[in-house]
Amino acid sequence: MFYLLCLCLILAVMFIVFMLTALTSLPALRVLLAYRHLVRAGTAANFLFIIRALPLVLGIVASLGLALPAFWEFEPSATHEMPGPVLLLLAGLGVLMIVGMFWRISRSVWVTLSLQRMWLKNASPLAENFKGIPVFCVKDSASLVAVAGIFVPRIFLSQDVADVLNTEELNAALAHELAHVSTKDNLRQFVLKMMPRPQFLPFLSDIDSLWSSTSELAADERAIVKGTSPLDLSSALIKVGRLSFQRGSTLLAASHLVDGCSSATHVRAGHLRHLLEHGVSPEQANPTRRWTRGWTACAAVVLLLYLLALWTLLPEVHDALEFIVR
Ligand SMILES: [Zn+2]
Repeated sequence: MFYLLCLCLILAVMFIVFMLTALTSLPALRVLLAYRHLVRAGTAANFLFIIRALPLVLGIVASLGLALPAFWEFEPSATHEMPGPVLLLLAGLGVLMIVGMFWRISRSVWVTLSLQRMWLKNASPLAENFKGIPVFCVKDSASLVAVAGIFVPRIFLSQDVADVLNTEELNAALAHELAHVSTKDNLRQFVLKMMPRPQFLPFLSDIDSLWSSTSELAADERAIVKGTSPLDLSSALIKVGRLSFQRGSTLLAASHLVDGCSSATHVRAGHLRHLLEHGVSPEQANPTRRWTRGWTACAAVVLLLYLLALWTLLPEVHDALEFIVR
């Protein structure tokens, strides 16, 4: 009974914390949606990702970092308490949530690996890697320029793209893909794809689409800071956008140069024109290092506070768990 009760509580706590955080993050997402034009694309993409991933992170921390040690420490191992109907219902919803996530993870990995394997079958490596990332030229897939893979990124481009772009435009397109690699956009995409999206919150799907389009603008900005000409990148976008686009699975963990949506391509071309006219400073467009330092410091402080407060908090957490059991 001890282990069944423990499992039910962990699942229920994960579900409750996930849903509460997802619901309370909605106003923050709406504010970000309204004011995203006031900040750089990279900053907006970072905030969107963090707020979207927060329910999952807090769900895991609350269930495995608080509920589990509190139950283990304070619940007698010979407990005769039975999980009540409410706890069983919440635990069942937690199971559904986790099974759904694992299903999407396995599908996403399978779709990404199969497509990479298919492309590699018809591909020849380009003469040189692009700044350490292997680049392959694929025989079919008309408008393909994409970096695929979560932990081992590879850049794929079609023969049609290689034929239609001049050297400068090709380097600009590859620099855009390299910018996705430097910010681990495929890993972020993978996390967003595995996140539960409750049917009654369609707004979250819109936010994920917004993250995709914002991360494209951010990759353009970073490519330009690294020395790419906005004119070459803009010209590459338009030329590749004119080729036919084969839409892949929505579970694919890959970042394309164009996504087949002509209005999105025009928005990016307009953004590049703005960058050409007004310029972009390295500090504004490449906040990755500052973000990494800031978040590492924040994580260290939170971990320290957690360790210091853990033994004080556990009795309170156990009391709260008793309330759920009853
Ligand atoms: Zn892209």
